[in-house]
Formats: sequence, structure tokens, C-alpha cells
Amino acid sequence: MPDVIGIESELSHKLSDPTYDSASRFTMVVDLGAIEGNYRKFRTLAPHSACGAVLKADAYGLGAARIAPFLGRLGCRHFFVADMEEGIALRDLIPSSARIYMLHGIMRGMEPAAEHHDLIPILNSREQLDAWLRHCRLRNRPLPAGIHVDTGLSRLGFPIDELQKVVESESALSDLPVVLFMSQLACAEWRDEVSRQQLYRFRKLTHLFPKAILSLSNSAGLFAGCEFHFDLIRSGGGIFGLSTSDDLDFKQSQVVRLGTRIIQCREVEIGEAIGYYRSYTVKRRMRVATASIGYADGFPRSLGNRGHVFIYGTRAPIVGFVSMDLITIDVTDLPESWTSPGTVVDLICPEQTVADMASAAKMLSDELTTGIGRRCRRLYVSAQRDDMRHQ
Ligand SMILES: *Cc1c(COP(=O)(O)O)cnc(C)c1O
Repeated sequence: MPDVIGIESELSHKLSDPTYDSASRFTMVVDLGAIEGNYRKFRTLAPHSACGAVLKADAYGLGAARIAPFLGRLGCRHFFVADMEEGIALRDLIPSSARIYMLHGIMRGMEPAAEHHDLIPILNSREQLDAWLRHCRLRNRPLPAGIHVDTGLSRLGFPIDELQKVVESESALSDLPVVLFMSQLACAEWRDEVSRQQLYRFRKLTHLFPKAILSLSNSAGLFAGCEFHFDLIRSGGGIFGLSTSDDLDFKQSQVVRLGTRIIQCREVEIGEAIGYYRSYTVKRRMRVATASIGYADGFPRSLGNRGHVFIYGTRAPIVGFVSMDLITIDVTDLPESWTSPGTVVDLICPEQTVADMASAAKMLSDELTTGIGRRCRRLYVSAQRDDMRHQ
């Protein structure tokens, strides 16, 4: 085995240790220590704001059930999910004082369950506002809600003029405890005029909700300038090491590794072809390793004949099409002793970060991780403390 040092070798070693990985085919290793580091850096970079965690889509595919309580222990008190199902799943995992906001708001009929599970809807429209107010009247209690205003994404949230009209005309709104007033930036990464215009529009409305926590920025918005910070940052990709921001002040720690194993290795003769539809023709005698991950697991099909993997830190090309459950790798140039069945194949690793693999596949980093399927076991480690835990 080649010389490898530090935590990387530690992780590969443990990934290949049968006590950690006997049954599963492949594993996503999530480094909680790196999440902690990123989260703390965010808090330092926006010292006058709270840092909320966006845990939609199962914490971007990393596993909300483990990450939510971990962030709760770090002091995080604001959690964002897409909808009620995601919110209910989190409620008992985090302190009862922590708030869970549902970004999609409320649909008619969901109000009692939202109240029962102590979930705060972010109201996006007149219909949602009416539904929530109706429920409050029915229960005869003012129940907290958030308000989302659309300042330039044209996706969710009240259009500005409609919100102003509602605030002016709706006396009932004055009884509603609006605990969060938010908007979402369309292209925070670019730090351009669009963001400034959204900031300007948002700022002109904040006086409407004097008691609310104000929130405009996602991870990338944090770097657009401190005038974008307000009371609360909503961060997902930034703390999970998936952010597209290239800010020099923030070198995010890599959180995710993805590894699988070789099932079989074979010689293939000149003139033969590899994989479905024989898209790769063999031009020299080759050794080809077959490893267990495929498009059914969210591995990008576009990496067939284009992507790379790493075996003991050495780059090896993917040859042939990506199958449903398998990929084939050219290992001709690797020592035979490195390619026996069971050998770990690194897909996302220090040599090939999630951003590298995503860009090779013309995807976003979080698009890649949210697509990794349930067959992939999540393993939680803390590189700093070196305590391995199972999921
Ligand atoms: C997903 C989402 C976020 C988090 O965005 P990141 O870029 O991953 O930090 C913040 N706010 C809203 C409304 C979102 O939908």
C-alpha cells in the first residue's frame, strides 16, 4: 500500500475496515467535525447575526437525523425545512426551544398538525395567510408565523405590492405574531446589482414587521457584505461544504466523502468492448475493475467514459457507460495488488472534491449529494475527535 498520511488514510482505512462496513455496498462518510468548523466560521463571519441551518432534502442528502441534533448541541436555534413531513421528523431531535420553519408554508388542512408539532409556517401568499389566520381564530390563539416576500426570484413569497396591501388592509395581521420576515436572493454568488436591488427592496419593507427576526441571506449572501446579514443567515450548502461561493475569507472544510468497493476485476482483450452498447473499445490489453455504484444510487450517468475515481490516491478513469448498479474502471496502470475484490474505490475524496465531481458531471454540488440514494449508508465521523459513530 502506498504511503498515505493523516486523517485521509485514517478514513480510508476505517472505510475498508470490515467492522465499519461489512454489510453495505458503499458509504457516504460525513465529517461532523468539518460541519462544526464551517458552522463556527459562519458565526464568526457574521458576528451580529444568528446562523440558522437549512436541512431540507434530508440535510442535502447528508442525513438530517444525525445532523440536526449535532447542530442543536452547537447552539443552533433556527432550522429550516421544506415542508411539514420534514419538520415533524426533526421536532423531537432538537431542543424544544429551537424553531423549525417550513419554507413551503401551509396548505389548507395542515394547520392543526403544524400547531401540534410546533412548526412555524413561512407564509408565502394570501391563501396561506388566510388559512393560518382562520386556524388562529378557530383556536382562539395567535400562533407564530413567518412571512416571505419575493424581492426578485419570482418563486415563493408575497409580491411586494400585495404584501403592502395586505398589511394596510388586514387588521387581523396586527394580531399575528410574525416572528420572521424573510426574502431569498436570486444570485447571491455574483454580488451584483441584482442582489443590491433585492437588498434595497427588502430594506424598504422591514419596518412593516418591527418585532420579526429579519433574514435575507443564504450561504452565499453572507459574503455579499455585512449589510446583507440582518438578524439571521440561512445556511445549508455553506456548512455542508457544498457552497459555490469562492470567497477568499471562507475556505470551507470538505464534509462529504463517498466510497465504494471493487466487486470483480478482469482482463479484457484488444478489440473487445466495455459496458452496455459497447461504447468503449479496448485498444490495448486492459484490466477492468467493476465497482458497486450506479445511476440508481444517484451516480451521474454523464460520467460514463468521462469521470474518474481514486484507488489508494491514484486516479483511474471510468470506462464504458454507467449502469444502474455498477461502474467499470480502467485499472491497467495500477498494481494488481491494489485491485482485488473489496478494495475501496474513492469517488468523492480529498483528491476529487464534491465540487470537482459535480462540475465534471455538469451538476451542482448539492444536486449531486441530494441524489445519492438510500442504498448508500451514511457513516458519521468526527475527524477532529476521531470518534466514529454508526448510523
Ligand atoms: C435552500 C435555501 C437556503 C439555503 O441555501 P444555501 O445556498 O444552501 O445556503 C436558504 N434560504 C432558502 C429560502 C432556501 O430555499
